[in-house]
Amino acid sequence: MSGILVENLSKRFGNFVAVNDVSFEVKEGELVALLGPSGSGKSTILRLIAGLEKADGGKVFLTGKDVTGTKTQERNVGFVFQHYALFKHMTVEKNIAFGLEIQKRDKHLIRQRVDELIELVKLRGYEKHYPNQLSGGQRQRVALARALAPEPAVLLLDEPFGALDAKVRKSLAQWIRDLHDRLNVTSVFVTHDQQEAMEISDKIVVINRGEVEQVGTARQIYESPQSKFVASFVGNVNVIEGKVSGRRFEVRGLGQTFVTDGAEKMPEGDVVLLVRPEDIELQRQNSGGDRLPARISRIHYRGSLYEMELEFGDMQLTVVTPKELFIEAGWQSSEKVFLQFKKHRIFDAGKGHHEIRQMLKHLGYIE
Ligand code: ATP
Repeated sequence: MSGILVENLSKRFGNFVAVNDVSFEVKEGELVALLGPSGSGKSTILRLIAGLEKADGGKVFLTGKDVTGTKTQERNVGFVFQHYALFKHMTVEKNIAFGLEIQKRDKHLIRQRVDELIELVKLRGYEKHYPNQLSGGQRQRVALARALAPEPAVLLLDEPFGALDAKVRKSLAQWIRDLHDRLNVTSVFVTHDQQEAMEISDKIVVINRGEVEQVGTARQIYESPQSKFVASFVGNVNVIEGKVSGRRFEVRGLGQTFVTDGAEKMPEGDVVLLVRPEDIELQRQNSGGDRLPARISRIHYRGSLYEMELEFGDMQLTVVTPKELFIEAGWQSSEKVFLQFKKHRIFDAGKGHHEIRQMLKHLGYIE
Protein backbone atom coordinates (compact mmCIF):
# COMPACT_ATOMS: atom_id res chain seq x y z
CA MET A 1 0.00 0.00 0.00
CA SER A 2 1.75 3.15 -1.07
CA GLY A 3 -1.02 5.75 -0.93
CA ILE A 4 -2.92 6.71 2.21
CA LEU A 5 -4.72 4.34 4.53
CA VAL A 6 -6.93 5.67 7.30
CA GLU A 7 -8.09 3.03 9.75
CA ASN A 8 -10.81 3.50 12.39
CA LEU A 9 -9.75 7.07 13.02
CA SER A 10 -11.46 8.92 15.88
CA LYS A 11 -11.09 12.38 17.35
CA ARG A 12 -12.95 14.13 20.16
CA PHE A 13 -12.86 17.76 21.21
CA GLY A 14 -13.99 17.58 24.84
CA ASN A 15 -17.23 15.60 24.73
CA PHE A 16 -17.79 16.35 21.07
CA VAL A 17 -16.99 13.52 18.66
CA ALA A 18 -15.64 15.26 15.55
CA VAL A 19 -14.40 12.11 13.80
CA ASN A 20 -15.90 8.71 14.54
CA ASP A 21 -14.33 5.45 13.38
CA VAL A 22 -13.40 6.72 9.93
CA SER A 23 -11.71 4.33 7.48
CA PHE A 24 -10.85 4.80 3.80
CA GLU A 25 -8.03 4.28 1.38
CA VAL A 26 -6.46 6.57 -1.20
CA LYS A 27 -4.49 4.58 -3.75
CA GLU A 28 -1.17 5.85 -4.98
CA GLY A 29 -1.66 8.61 -7.52
CA GLU A 30 -5.37 9.07 -6.79
CA LEU A 31 -7.11 12.40 -6.27
CA VAL A 32 -9.79 11.88 -3.64
CA ALA A 33 -12.38 14.36 -2.37
CA LEU A 34 -13.65 14.48 1.20
CA LEU A 35 -17.14 15.81 0.65
CA GLY A 36 -19.53 16.83 3.39
CA PRO A 37 -21.32 19.77 4.94
CA SER A 38 -19.67 22.37 7.11
CA GLY A 39 -18.66 20.98 10.48
CA SER A 40 -18.82 17.34 9.38
CA GLY A 41 -15.20 16.71 10.31
CA LYS A 42 -13.47 16.90 6.91
CA SER A 43 -10.73 19.32 7.96
CA THR A 44 -10.14 17.38 11.15
CA ILE A 45 -9.61 14.19 9.14
CA LEU A 46 -7.14 16.02 6.90
CA ARG A 47 -5.33 17.45 9.92
CA LEU A 48 -5.14 13.96 11.45
CA ILE A 49 -3.57 12.66 8.23
CA ALA A 50 -1.08 15.53 8.32
CA GLY A 51 -0.32 15.01 12.01
CA LEU A 52 -1.57 18.49 12.91
CA GLU A 53 -4.02 16.84 15.32
CA LYS A 54 -3.44 13.81 17.50
CA ALA A 55 -5.93 10.97 17.01
CA ASP A 56 -7.77 9.49 19.99
CA GLY A 57 -8.04 6.19 18.19
CA GLY A 58 -7.18 4.53 14.90
CA LYS A 59 -4.22 4.65 12.57
CA VAL A 60 -2.84 6.56 9.61
CA PHE A 61 -0.55 4.88 7.09
CA LEU A 62 1.32 6.94 4.52
CA THR A 63 3.14 5.13 1.73
CA GLY A 64 2.76 1.91 3.68
CA LYS A 65 4.25 3.24 6.94
CA ASP A 66 2.31 3.65 10.17
CA VAL A 67 2.78 7.38 10.90
CA THR A 68 0.14 7.62 13.66
CA GLY A 69 2.69 8.55 16.30
CA THR A 70 5.03 10.67 14.15
CA LYS A 71 5.29 14.43 13.85
CA THR A 72 4.06 16.40 10.85
CA GLN A 73 7.62 17.21 9.75
CA GLU A 74 8.37 13.52 9.49
CA ARG A 75 5.29 12.64 7.46
CA ASN A 76 6.37 14.17 4.14
CA VAL A 77 3.02 15.81 3.41
CA GLY A 78 2.29 18.97 1.47
CA PHE A 79 -0.57 21.11 2.76
CA VAL A 80 -2.62 23.86 1.09
CA PHE A 81 -5.18 25.77 3.13
CA GLN A 82 -8.22 27.75 2.06
CA HIS A 83 -6.69 31.00 3.21
CA TYR A 84 -3.50 31.42 1.36
CA ALA A 85 -1.25 31.61 4.41
CA LEU A 86 1.60 32.83 2.24
CA PHE A 87 4.40 34.73 3.91
CA LYS A 88 3.44 38.31 3.14
CA HIS A 89 6.95 39.71 3.46
CA MET A 90 8.41 37.14 1.04
CA THR A 91 8.39 37.19 -2.74
CA VAL A 92 6.78 34.42 -4.76
CA GLU A 93 10.10 32.63 -5.24
CA LYS A 94 11.02 32.94 -1.55
CA ASN A 95 7.64 31.54 -0.57
CA ILE A 96 8.12 28.57 -2.87
CA ALA A 97 11.67 27.98 -1.64
CA PHE A 98 10.68 28.16 2.03
CA GLY A 99 10.25 24.43 2.73
CA LEU A 100 13.47 23.58 0.93
CA GLU A 101 15.42 26.22 2.85
CA ILE A 102 14.12 24.88 6.14
CA GLN A 103 15.44 21.49 5.06
CA LYS A 104 18.78 23.21 4.30
CA ARG A 105 18.88 21.85 0.78
CA ASP A 106 21.64 22.75 -1.62
CA LYS A 107 21.25 26.34 -2.95
CA HIS A 108 21.65 25.33 -6.58
CA LEU A 109 19.02 22.60 -6.19
CA ILE A 110 16.62 25.06 -4.54
CA ARG A 111 17.02 27.53 -7.42
CA GLN A 112 16.40 24.81 -9.97
CA ARG A 113 13.33 23.42 -8.15
CA VAL A 114 11.79 26.87 -7.68
CA ASP A 115 12.33 27.56 -11.37
CA GLU A 116 10.56 24.32 -12.33
CA LEU A 117 7.66 25.10 -10.04
CA ILE A 118 7.29 28.67 -11.30
CA GLU A 119 6.89 27.14 -14.75
CA LEU A 120 4.52 24.46 -13.51
CA VAL A 121 2.15 26.88 -11.79
CA LYS A 122 2.45 29.36 -14.66
CA LEU A 123 3.83 32.28 -12.69
CA ARG A 124 6.77 33.15 -14.89
CA GLY A 125 7.40 36.89 -14.56
CA TYR A 126 5.92 36.97 -11.04
CA GLU A 127 8.99 35.61 -9.22
CA LYS A 128 9.75 38.92 -7.47
CA HIS A 129 6.14 39.84 -6.72
CA TYR A 130 4.80 39.86 -3.19
CA PRO A 131 1.52 38.08 -2.26
CA ASN A 132 -0.43 41.36 -2.10
CA GLN A 133 0.48 41.99 -5.75
CA LEU A 134 -1.23 38.77 -6.85
CA SER A 135 -4.82 37.70 -7.49
CA GLY A 136 -6.48 35.10 -5.26
CA GLY A 137 -6.03 32.36 -7.86
CA GLN A 138 -2.35 33.24 -8.33
CA ARG A 139 -1.79 33.14 -4.57
CA GLN A 140 -3.32 29.68 -4.38
CA ARG A 141 -0.97 28.58 -7.17
CA VAL A 142 1.98 29.88 -5.14
CA ALA A 143 0.65 28.01 -2.08
CA LEU A 144 0.43 24.88 -4.20
CA ALA A 145 3.97 25.32 -5.57
CA ARG A 146 5.24 25.82 -2.02
CA ALA A 147 3.53 22.62 -0.87
CA LEU A 148 4.92 20.68 -3.84
CA ALA A 149 8.49 22.01 -3.53
CA PRO A 150 9.82 19.42 -1.06
CA GLU A 151 8.29 16.66 -3.26
CA PRO A 152 5.79 15.40 -0.69
CA ALA A 153 4.54 11.83 -0.84
CA VAL A 154 0.99 13.10 -0.38
CA LEU A 155 -0.70 16.41 -0.98
CA LEU A 156 -3.53 17.59 1.28
CA LEU A 157 -5.74 20.45 0.16
CA ASP A 158 -8.22 21.99 2.59
CA GLU A 159 -10.93 23.82 0.62
CA PRO A 160 -8.16 25.20 -1.59
CA PHE A 161 -10.61 27.15 -3.75
CA GLY A 162 -13.02 28.10 -0.97
CA ALA A 163 -12.10 31.77 -0.81
CA LEU A 164 -12.22 32.35 -4.56
CA ASP A 165 -15.07 33.53 -6.74
CA ALA A 166 -16.99 30.93 -8.75
CA LYS A 167 -15.25 31.34 -12.09
CA VAL A 168 -11.70 31.35 -10.73
CA ARG A 169 -12.68 28.50 -8.46
CA LYS A 170 -13.92 26.40 -11.36
CA SER A 171 -10.93 27.04 -13.58
CA LEU A 172 -8.45 26.46 -10.74
CA ALA A 173 -10.22 23.22 -9.83
CA GLN A 174 -9.90 22.00 -13.41
CA TRP A 175 -6.29 23.14 -13.50
CA ILE A 176 -5.53 21.14 -10.32
CA ARG A 177 -7.04 18.08 -11.98
CA ASP A 178 -4.81 18.55 -15.04
CA LEU A 179 -1.79 19.15 -12.85
CA HIS A 180 -2.59 16.05 -10.88
CA ASP A 181 -2.75 14.02 -14.08
CA ARG A 182 0.78 15.18 -14.88
CA LEU A 183 2.34 14.81 -11.43
CA ASN A 184 0.30 11.93 -10.02
CA VAL A 185 0.88 12.95 -6.42
CA THR A 186 -1.49 11.07 -4.11
CA SER A 187 -3.88 13.85 -3.08
CA VAL A 188 -6.85 14.44 -0.80
CA PHE A 189 -8.90 17.59 -1.01
CA VAL A 190 -11.66 18.82 1.23
CA THR A 191 -14.74 20.40 -0.25
CA HIS A 192 -18.38 20.95 0.61
CA ASP A 193 -19.18 21.49 -3.08
CA GLN A 194 -20.56 18.29 -4.64
CA GLN A 195 -20.13 19.65 -8.16
CA GLU A 196 -16.46 20.31 -7.54
CA ALA A 197 -15.97 16.89 -5.95
CA MET A 198 -17.70 15.19 -8.86
CA GLU A 199 -15.85 17.11 -11.52
CA ILE A 200 -12.28 16.62 -10.44
CA SER A 201 -11.88 13.63 -8.14
CA ASP A 202 -11.22 9.97 -8.88
CA LYS A 203 -13.14 8.96 -5.79
CA ILE A 204 -15.34 10.69 -3.23
CA VAL A 205 -15.53 10.00 0.50
CA VAL A 206 -18.82 11.42 1.74
CA ILE A 207 -18.57 12.54 5.36
CA ASN A 208 -21.47 13.34 7.64
CA ARG A 209 -21.28 14.08 11.36
CA GLY A 210 -17.77 12.74 11.60
CA GLU A 211 -18.58 9.46 9.89
CA VAL A 212 -18.09 8.04 6.42
CA GLU A 213 -21.46 7.71 4.69
CA GLN A 214 -20.19 6.33 1.41
CA VAL A 215 -17.01 5.91 -0.60
CA GLY A 216 -17.24 5.66 -4.36
CA THR A 217 -16.70 7.24 -7.74
CA ALA A 218 -18.78 10.30 -8.61
CA ARG A 219 -21.00 8.03 -10.65
CA GLN A 220 -21.54 5.51 -7.85
CA ILE A 221 -22.38 8.29 -5.40
CA TYR A 222 -24.75 9.91 -7.89
CA GLU A 223 -26.39 6.76 -9.21
CA SER A 224 -26.52 4.65 -6.09
CA PRO A 225 -26.61 6.77 -2.96
CA GLN A 226 -26.47 4.41 0.00
CA SER A 227 -28.15 6.71 2.48
CA LYS A 228 -30.72 9.46 2.53
CA PHE A 229 -27.94 11.85 3.35
CA VAL A 230 -26.02 10.91 0.22
CA ALA A 231 -29.21 11.11 -1.84
CA SER A 232 -29.50 14.72 -0.76
CA PHE A 233 -26.16 15.40 -2.44
CA VAL A 234 -27.45 14.09 -5.76
CA GLY A 235 -28.04 16.95 -8.14
CA ASN A 236 -29.46 20.08 -6.72
CA VAL A 237 -32.22 18.83 -4.52
CA ASN A 238 -33.33 20.18 -1.18
CA VAL A 239 -34.42 17.40 1.14
CA ILE A 240 -36.73 18.52 3.91
CA GLU A 241 -37.65 16.18 6.70
CA GLY A 242 -40.96 16.33 8.48
CA LYS A 243 -44.20 14.63 9.41
CA VAL A 244 -47.47 14.43 7.57
CA SER A 245 -50.82 14.21 9.22
CA GLY A 246 -53.92 14.56 7.06
CA ARG A 247 -52.71 16.97 4.41
CA ARG A 248 -50.59 19.00 6.79
CA PHE A 249 -46.82 18.82 6.54
CA GLU A 250 -44.92 19.70 9.71
CA VAL A 251 -41.36 20.78 9.02
CA ARG A 252 -38.82 19.21 11.37
CA GLY A 253 -37.31 21.72 13.78
CA LEU A 254 -39.55 24.58 12.65
CA GLY A 255 -42.67 23.73 14.64
CA GLN A 256 -44.82 24.94 11.79
CA THR A 257 -47.05 23.24 9.27
CA PHE A 258 -48.40 23.93 5.81
CA VAL A 259 -51.06 22.31 3.69
CA THR A 260 -49.74 20.22 0.87
CA ASP A 261 -51.71 20.56 -2.31
CA GLY A 262 -52.30 18.23 -5.24
CA ALA A 263 -54.17 14.99 -5.48
CA GLU A 264 -51.16 12.74 -5.08
CA LYS A 265 -51.44 9.92 -2.64
CA MET A 266 -49.46 10.95 0.39
CA PRO A 267 -47.72 8.90 3.00
CA GLU A 268 -48.44 9.63 6.66
CA GLY A 269 -45.96 9.97 9.53
CA ASP A 270 -42.24 10.57 9.00
CA VAL A 271 -41.64 11.81 5.48
CA VAL A 272 -39.08 13.48 3.28
CA LEU A 273 -39.95 16.37 1.01
CA LEU A 274 -37.87 16.95 -2.12
CA VAL A 275 -37.81 20.34 -3.73
CA ARG A 276 -35.63 21.82 -6.44
CA PRO A 277 -33.79 25.06 -5.69
CA GLU A 278 -35.69 26.81 -8.51
CA ASP A 279 -39.04 25.61 -7.14
CA ILE A 280 -38.86 27.59 -3.92
CA GLU A 281 -40.66 30.90 -4.11
CA LEU A 282 -39.82 33.70 -1.68
CA GLN A 283 -41.94 36.57 -0.44
CA ARG A 284 -41.52 39.24 2.21
CA GLN A 285 -45.06 38.80 3.50
CA ASN A 286 -46.78 35.69 4.69
CA SER A 287 -49.55 36.07 2.13
CA GLY A 288 -52.30 33.53 2.58
CA GLY A 289 -50.88 32.81 6.04
CA ASP A 290 -49.60 29.44 4.96
CA ARG A 291 -46.02 30.30 4.08
CA LEU A 292 -43.02 29.18 6.06
CA PRO A 293 -40.49 31.50 7.70
CA ALA A 294 -36.83 31.38 6.76
CA ARG A 295 -33.81 33.68 6.71
CA ILE A 296 -31.42 34.38 3.87
CA SER A 297 -27.98 33.49 5.20
CA ARG A 298 -25.82 33.88 2.10
CA ILE A 299 -26.15 35.09 -1.45
CA HIS A 300 -23.97 33.88 -4.32
CA TYR A 301 -23.82 35.40 -7.75
CA ARG A 302 -23.94 32.65 -10.40
CA GLY A 303 -23.91 34.58 -13.65
CA SER A 304 -27.45 34.45 -15.03
CA LEU A 305 -28.70 33.18 -11.67
CA TYR A 306 -28.44 34.08 -8.03
CA GLU A 307 -28.15 31.33 -5.48
CA MET A 308 -29.35 31.99 -1.96
CA GLU A 309 -28.71 29.89 1.10
CA LEU A 310 -31.60 29.93 3.55
CA GLU A 311 -31.78 28.96 7.20
CA PHE A 312 -34.99 27.04 7.58
CA GLY A 313 -35.60 25.54 11.03
CA ASP A 314 -32.48 23.54 11.69
CA MET A 315 -31.98 22.93 7.98
CA GLN A 316 -30.39 24.79 5.12
CA LEU A 317 -32.08 25.33 1.80
CA THR A 318 -30.68 26.45 -1.51
CA VAL A 319 -32.81 28.67 -3.70
CA VAL A 320 -31.90 29.79 -7.19
CA THR A 321 -33.54 32.74 -8.86
CA PRO A 322 -33.02 34.21 -12.33
CA LYS A 323 -30.88 37.35 -12.16
CA GLU A 324 -33.69 39.72 -13.26
CA LEU A 325 -36.13 38.45 -10.63
CA PHE A 326 -33.46 38.61 -7.95
CA ILE A 327 -32.59 42.22 -8.76
CA GLU A 328 -36.27 43.18 -8.97
CA ALA A 329 -36.92 41.75 -5.50
CA GLY A 330 -33.66 43.14 -4.09
CA TRP A 331 -33.03 40.25 -1.69
CA GLN A 332 -30.44 40.89 1.01
CA SER A 333 -28.56 38.49 3.21
CA SER A 334 -29.86 38.25 6.84
CA GLU A 335 -33.32 39.11 5.56
CA LYS A 336 -36.34 37.23 6.90
CA VAL A 337 -38.52 35.73 4.20
CA PHE A 338 -41.54 33.51 3.75
CA LEU A 339 -41.40 30.63 1.35
CA GLN A 340 -43.61 28.36 -0.60
CA PHE A 341 -42.83 25.33 -2.71
CA LYS A 342 -44.03 25.67 -6.29
CA LYS A 343 -43.48 21.96 -6.90
CA HIS A 344 -42.52 19.30 -4.48
CA ARG A 345 -42.77 15.61 -3.80
CA ILE A 346 -43.19 13.84 -0.51
CA PHE A 347 -42.33 10.27 0.27
CA ASP A 348 -41.92 7.97 3.20
CA ALA A 349 -38.77 8.63 5.19
CA GLY A 350 -38.53 4.91 5.74
CA LYS A 351 -38.63 3.99 2.08
CA GLY A 352 -35.62 2.22 0.62
CA HIS A 353 -33.10 3.85 -1.64
CA HIS A 354 -34.57 2.21 -4.70
CA GLU A 355 -37.71 4.23 -4.11
CA ILE A 356 -35.70 7.39 -3.51
CA ARG A 357 -34.01 6.86 -6.86
CA GLN A 358 -37.33 6.19 -8.56
CA MET A 359 -38.62 9.41 -7.08
CA LEU A 360 -35.59 11.39 -8.20
CA LYS A 361 -36.02 9.91 -11.69
CA HIS A 362 -39.68 10.69 -11.71
CA LEU A 363 -38.91 14.28 -10.81
CA GLY A 364 -36.41 14.47 -13.62
CA TYR A 365 -33.51 15.10 -11.24
CA ILE A 366 -31.61 12.13 -12.63
CA GLU A 367 -31.82 10.11 -15.84
P1 ATP B 1 -15.83 23.24 7.57
O1 ATP B 1 -16.06 22.98 6.12
O2 ATP B 1 -16.82 24.18 8.18
O3 ATP B 1 -14.40 23.53 7.94
P2 ATP B 1 -15.38 20.52 8.39
O4 ATP B 1 -16.21 19.43 7.86
O5 ATP B 1 -14.02 20.67 7.84
O6 ATP B 1 -16.19 21.85 8.29
P3 ATP B 1 -14.11 20.41 10.94
O7 ATP B 1 -13.42 21.71 10.75
O8 ATP B 1 -13.32 19.18 10.83
O9 ATP B 1 -15.34 20.30 9.94
O10 ATP B 1 -14.85 20.45 12.34
C1 ATP B 1 -15.64 19.38 12.79
C2 ATP B 1 -16.24 19.76 14.12
O11 ATP B 1 -15.22 19.78 15.12
C3 ATP B 1 -16.88 21.13 14.14
O12 ATP B 1 -18.05 21.08 14.90
C4 ATP B 1 -15.84 22.00 14.82
O13 ATP B 1 -16.47 23.05 15.52
C5 ATP B 1 -15.17 21.02 15.76
N1 ATP B 1 -13.75 21.38 15.96
C6 ATP B 1 -12.80 21.40 15.02
N2 ATP B 1 -11.61 21.75 15.55
C7 ATP B 1 -11.83 21.98 16.88
C8 ATP B 1 -10.99 22.36 17.97
N3 ATP B 1 -9.70 22.59 17.82
N4 ATP B 1 -11.58 22.49 19.18
C9 ATP B 1 -12.89 22.24 19.35
N5 ATP B 1 -13.73 21.87 18.36
C10 ATP B 1 -13.23 21.74 17.14
